[in-house]
Amino acid sequence: MSYYINATAPAAPSPEQLYANIDFSKLSWMEQSWANWYLWIGNPILATGLMSFLVHEIVYFGRCVPWVIIDAIPYFRQWKLQPNKVPTPQEQWECTKLVLFSHFTIEAPLILLFHPIAESIGMATWQVPFPSWKLMLPQIAAFFVFEDMFHYFSHQMLHQGIFYKHIHKIHHKYSAPFGLAAEYAHPAEVLILGMGTIAGPLLYSYFMRDLHIFTVYIWIMLRLFQAIDAHSGYDFPWSLQHIIPFWSGADHHDFHHMAFVNNYSTSFRWCDWLGGTDTKYRAYRKRMDEAKKQAKAKGMTVDEWRAYEEKINAEEEAEGHKAEALVEASAGGKKID
Ligand SMILES: [Zn+2]
Ligand SMILES: [Zn+2]
Repeated sequence: MSYYINATAPAAPSPEQLYANIDFSKLSWMEQSWANWYLWIGNPILATGLMSFLVHEIVYFGRCVPWVIIDAIPYFRQWKLQPNKVPTPQEQWECTKLVLFSHFTIEAPLILLFHPIAESIGMATWQVPFPSWKLMLPQIAAFFVFEDMFHYFSHQMLHQGIFYKHIHKIHHKYSAPFGLAAEYAHPAEVLILGMGTIAGPLLYSYFMRDLHIFTVYIWIMLRLFQAIDAHSGYDFPWSLQHIIPFWSGADHHDFHHMAFVNNYSTSFRWCDWLGGTDTKYRAYRKRMDEAKKQAKAKGMTVDEWRAYEEKINAEEEAEGHKAEALVEASAGGKKID
């Protein structure tokens, strides 16, 4: 694939020159649109930056819309993990404003660096055709595994004293998260945890030199879906974790927000399982499953079951508040009550 080598060519060719040797009739619609975008913008740095920003905004808010609708329809409460804690439109709007603020103030300027960095490590950007699915799939799988591990360790760091008190506490504002809250976080947290998403492709491209930014976009889209769905607050019978047992899903991360402890990874369950940081979560799940069985045997009504579920969740949350106070106290300041 010679075009990857061209990516680091020293002279800056005009947009038309970039595609001088490409036969457009052999390209797919997507590849033609890709090339036309770079030709239309006329500046590869701006074209990559703008596209990266748009992909993020469209996918993030586009994925959140169905969850906002689901939150507004009482029928779906039966699958809500903390059914008594449905976000109000006001809460959702407040959350959206902060997320948008950080997208425009922190992310937008940083994204302009993406093209020069990508080119310097041999990542293809404007080039067409795209790589084959056979090359893209294992790359994306590797990024998933890398991000999950990176997040597992850095998220635990964010739960320590000063890091928690000054940075991660913002993300823990919602003990019952919702889709839009996925990126509700301190700018430093966005940078630290965002590294897990970006560093995988950067390191990979640096060593392997066969990565296209199109593959990175697909990875980022999937990662956004993962993060938003994990914060959705809903566990449907058809949710991915019931199909792929090692997938974390909302059930895993909702517990982290409710109980403050356990479940530090993102996409997969294996890091927490291996690290012993899911024991409380698994005990909770077992307790809930057994209680559900007994409730069925006793012929409990839905309302009675809800009240019982709420009671157990309130206990877990109260324990979480204590654990949170301890962490904050370790950073100095707030006293334990
Ligand atoms: Zn956390
Ligand atoms: Zn979260």
